[in-house]
Amino acid sequence: MEDKMHCVTLIPGDGIGPEITEVARQCLEATGVKLKWEVVEAGSSVVDKYGTPLPSYVINSIRKNKVAWKGPITTPVGGGFRSVNVALRKMLDLYMCLRPYKYYPGVRSNYKNVNLVVVRENTEDLYAGIEFKEGKKETSEVIHYIERLKNVKISEDSAISIKPISAAASQRIVEAAFRYALKNGRRKVTAVHKANIMKYSDGLFSKVAREVAYRYAGQIEFEEKLVDNMCMQLVQKPELYDVMVLPNLYGDILSDLCAGLVGGLGVAAGANIGEDVALFEAVHGSAPKYKGQNKVNPTALLLAAGLMLDYLGEQAAAEKLDKAIAEVIREGKAVTYDLKPGKTEGVVGTREMGEAIKSKIK
Ligand code: NAD
Repeated sequence: MEDKMHCVTLIPGDGIGPEITEVARQCLEATGVKLKWEVVEAGSSVVDKYGTPLPSYVINSIRKNKVAWKGPITTPVGGGFRSVNVALRKMLDLYMCLRPYKYYPGVRSNYKNVNLVVVRENTEDLYAGIEFKEGKKETSEVIHYIERLKNVKISEDSAISIKPISAAASQRIVEAAFRYALKNGRRKVTAVHKANIMKYSDGLFSKVAREVAYRYAGQIEFEEKLVDNMCMQLVQKPELYDVMVLPNLYGDILSDLCAGLVGGLGVAAGANIGEDVALFEAVHGSAPKYKGQNKVNPTALLLAAGLMLDYLGEQAAAEKLDKAIAEVIREGKAVTYDLKPGKTEGVVGTREMGEAIKSKIK
């Protein structure tokens, strides 16, 4: 049978984005999977030409190909545009953020037994961006309205952020976590929230999670944890946990905690998945201070490529790639600076680490 050709939108990004995507792309192609790239630019470099960091051709290309692989994109602090990364997730309704955290022997970490998956809701919660600035007329109106409605006192100099959690969005993310667990031979899903304090918003997430879990009883274990306790548990005994499903903000925070458990941002990858579109990227950002220096670790973007291959049904290639990455990290002879803090022996640049990984793909 002819191997299938996959058309994929490739967004190189900015900062360290172009150099890591170039190196990672060569490794990905070495797996033998047939990939046809549609390269599109987004971010500050296209603002002058198109008046926006996210021109419609980027969205159109992803909608057409249904799969995108993306380098990091800088978000200007203060002025300028809002995050292109957040906008992409919103516009394409990529409601599931999937982040596996696995320990690779050879990575410097205090933990060895980590094999966790964070499933983060990607569309609502405090990330919805519904905010009221302190001192504004509309903020004062909101404050007085809430005071009347709830018979409470809110200080006039407050800023307000709204946290919407819906039954529908909670249901689809918990369902997605269970489906993932089942498909990937995982044993347990832990729903993480703070329903003891946020009885309605997190309470709804918890109620919906229990309803979904009921349908998977006997197939996948289920438990709930309060987010503060979950942080402590993960630091003390991460080996007890498996798949965790969380509302947006807790998912964001726990993702970085888990990245810390497995050795940092250089080895943390993620997928943003919707009904029929998915976007794969590293968890880290554009690290502008290292731009063009052939210094940073291409692994996170490569691990994201592995998730993409899996999504495309190319499991054999995904395994080949994962094995090659694991071998290079285990040998420790050609890895980037972040995997060997304080050492120079065996430390190489982005391209050299990419070459080492490519040479191991068989
Ligand atoms: P960052 O992840 O870019 O970098 C923080 C530090 O982590 C770097 O200085 C570096 O020491 C280390 N690091 C990051 N990637 C690495 C790699 N591949 N190998 C080795 N070390 C690595 O975070 P930041 O500095 O807070 O953000 C920079 C820009 O990136 C911001 O504009 C931010 O908004 C954006 N950002 C984009 C995305 C995305 O595109 N999805 C994600 C996060 C941040």
